Amino acid sequence: MTEKMLKFVHLEQKYPHKREASERRTDFNEIYEAFEDTNAADQASRCSQCGVPFCQAHCPLYNNIPDWLRLTTEGRLEEAYAISSATNNMPEVTGRICPQDRLCEGNCVIEQSTHGAVTIGSVEKYITDTAFANGWVKAPKPAKENGMSVGIIGGGPGGMAAAEQLRLKGYEVHIYDRYDRMGGLLVYGIPGFKLEKDVVERRVKLLEEGGVIMHTEFEVGRDATLDDLRKKHDSVLIATGVYKARELKLPGAGLGNVYPALEYLTTSNRHGLGDTVPAYEDGTLNAKDKNVVVIGGGDTAMDCVRTAIRQGAKSVKCLYRRDRANMPGSQREVANAEEEGVEFVWLTNPEAFVGDDTVTGVRAVKMRLGAPDAGGRQSPEIIEGSSYTMDADMVILALGFEPEDLPTLFDAPELGVSRWGTVKIDFRTMMTNLDGVFAAGDIARGASLVVWAIRDGRDAADRIDEYLLARKEAAA
Ligand SMILES: Cc1cc2nc3c(=O)[nH]c(=O)nc-3n(C[C@H](O)[C@H](O)[C@H](O)COP(=O)(O)OP(=O)(O)OC[C@H]3O[C@@H](n4cnc5c(N)ncnc54)[C@H](O)[C@@H]3O)c2cc1C
Ligand code: SF4
Repeated sequence: MTEKMLKFVHLEQKYPHKREASERRTDFNEIYEAFEDTNAADQASRCSQCGVPFCQAHCPLYNNIPDWLRLTTEGRLEEAYAISSATNNMPEVTGRICPQDRLCEGNCVIEQSTHGAVTIGSVEKYITDTAFANGWVKAPKPAKENGMSVGIIGGGPGGMAAAEQLRLKGYEVHIYDRYDRMGGLLVYGIPGFKLEKDVVERRVKLLEEGGVIMHTEFEVGRDATLDDLRKKHDSVLIATGVYKARELKLPGAGLGNVYPALEYLTTSNRHGLGDTVPAYEDGTLNAKDKNVVVIGGGDTAMDCVRTAIRQGAKSVKCLYRRDRANMPGSQREVANAEEEGVEFVWLTNPEAFVGDDTVTGVRAVKMRLGAPDAGGRQSPEIIEGSSYTMDADMVILALGFEPEDLPTLFDAPELGVSRWGTVKIDFRTMMTNLDGVFAAGDIARGASLVVWAIRDGRDAADRIDEYLLARKEAAA
């Protein structure tokens, strides 16, 4: 055992609580890296090569998990990387932040036999981090340019995956993003303790090296219309994500220090990236020494509570109107948050925000789960007379996201959207009702996961290629 690992064992004995690999790294970075490297092969060797790869079937990218686990066990990491990257444009990202307990690992047969799943995500991350360290990850350079161009609106995981696939096929690819950095929610939504920002920057740099042309601080709707881009490119892909925060219309919602989750997380991420962020530095959007109440039960709420803990909040409460078993967020994230000191207030709903100019408390009411609704989910009911007020210096609303009004924003009233505002596509072709305009990721499927955005981006690249080749052939 190396000196580093001995130190790790000592620390693990001193702090015996079980913590996530990604989260442990923040405290004892070097020590855990040494531990994880050894652990990857050990973990991979636990795969029983069961012959019924439920893990693969439950991965949205249909990653060939059994094969790369076997190659990792055999120490053939370059081949493992080749197989892993054949179906996934950013395995180092999904390995870190996929909710594996709901996807591949949750369906591992060893997990089903109660022996604890193979930690597939951490092996995936290890393989790709090793590939980067050894220079095996190459920029997407096509064998031949094909003379056609595609404009992608949105540089999140959906847009980035599509860009890489299209570039490899020889297209001139332009990504337009309204932010100053590419990466979408990978950069400004997901906290750095779950996904280090240099991991995303490394991918963006590779795309640039491959010839993808990046237009940052370019907002479609402000700097160009959708029609302008349709004229400029042979095809356009909309991959703009969903950003409209769901509101909570309660008395006192307009008080100071009541913030939407993404504003809070973006501020924290910008600070972590080294930007000058007055709202963080003057304490406005900083949880230090505050009693923080986060409202919501999804993964965004978990990111907010865990960020507030790291900023040094006095107390952090998470209010959710159903119970633990019925919460939408990953149980793994809840366990992490509890371990870090977050108090979950289950079966509780806010009624009003209290205070004069600035919030000083949240009036909440206790709930019970009643009869199942049409979908079979028990509806929360108010317990009359159970209202009480808890202290709060800062309230964060994490109630989910909806699409913005793209037809209006893009000056394209003819663009077809669903009643939820998502862009309507033909699921076979991924094309919208506008000829040559495609859509992928959250804006087409609603708020979802990074791994699904990557899958959509890859599929959209294939469909765009089919469309443009057919058009070229017809014109010949
Ligand atoms: C706080 C938070 C935490 C999350 N954590 C996880 C997690 O741990 N694991 C996981 O799998 N998923 C997680 N998700 C979900 C995941 O981030 C999204 O599903 C995924 O990023 C969607 O990818 P996308 O490419 O469709 O959109 P996005 O990542 O949202 O990217 C869209 C891009 O389009 C740009 N854009 C929008 N409008 C315009 C315009 N008009 N002009 C130009 N550019 C525009 C935006 O600036 C953005 O860069 C999380 C989401 C949030 C909000
Ligand atoms: S992409 Fe996600 S679901 Fe697929 S193998 Fe990797 S961690 Fe598992």
